[in-house]
Amino acid sequence: MIQIRGLKKSYGKLQVLRGIDLDVKRGEKVVILGPSGSGKSTLLRCINALEEADSGSILVDGIEVTSRRTNLNHLREHLGMVFQRFNLWPHLTVIENVMIGQVVVGHKSKAEAREKALAMLDRVGLKDRADEYPVRLSGGQQQRVGIARALAMDPKAILFDEPTSALDPELVGEVLAVMTQLAREGMTMVVVTHEIGFAREVADHVIFMDGGVIVEEGTPEEVVVNPREERTRAFLKHVL
Ligand code: ATP
Ligand code: MG
Repeated sequence: MIQIRGLKKSYGKLQVLRGIDLDVKRGEKVVILGPSGSGKSTLLRCINALEEADSGSILVDGIEVTSRRTNLNHLREHLGMVFQRFNLWPHLTVIENVMIGQVVVGHKSKAEAREKALAMLDRVGLKDRADEYPVRLSGGQQQRVGIARALAMDPKAILFDEPTSALDPELVGEVLAVMTQLAREGMTMVVVTHEIGFAREVADHVIFMDGGVIVEEGTPEEVVVNPREERTRAFLKHVL
């Protein structure tokens, strides 16, 4: 589903990604761990072409992200993204937030988009809040709207960038529960998170990044429970 080879990316003199190889199969859940500044967000942003790679290749469901000929709207339509800070439109209601991508990018009718949005809000437990404005919702609820918005596009995979790290601790669980449910339903997911419990329970594959490279990868058992590399151990000690 996602195939990355030799991905490199710099900002000026700062080399942020120094040659990343990654495969995500259909239905697979990959969790990315790593300290601040290790390049996790940049990696996700390269996958959905919010950033342009310097070299290397990225294929998403057969679409060559790194080719100039690729229609990026088509790519983003099929690749959901959930952000740390939700990024909901404050002037739109909850349901309008879930509809807008379907109408503008997906070219659906409003009626069709509304029906889909309601179904997705129901899936994240927020159908009854459809007509509220985001500011009236808790952070956990806003993030669940963010997930409903991604789901409404019928994505082939969803990328999550620290979806719970802006939340008060008591709101983390409701978002992880929605993500765990999605995982069980077979969604292909790439999740940057410091939630080690989620990684252990949900991930098929865990990656530990540091300094723009993959330092260690494997099953949760291998990377989280019995890490081989000293850098991984030091990081885990810090987050656990
Ligand atoms: P965090 O855990 O803090 O989110 P991260 O692993 O997601 O960190 P990135 O956001 O990918 O790290 O950033 C990697 C490095 O690239 C950092 O040193 C950051 O300051 C730098 N960087 C990121 N985006 C830009 C940009 N647009 N311009 C210049 N430097 C950037
Ligand atoms: Mg980041």
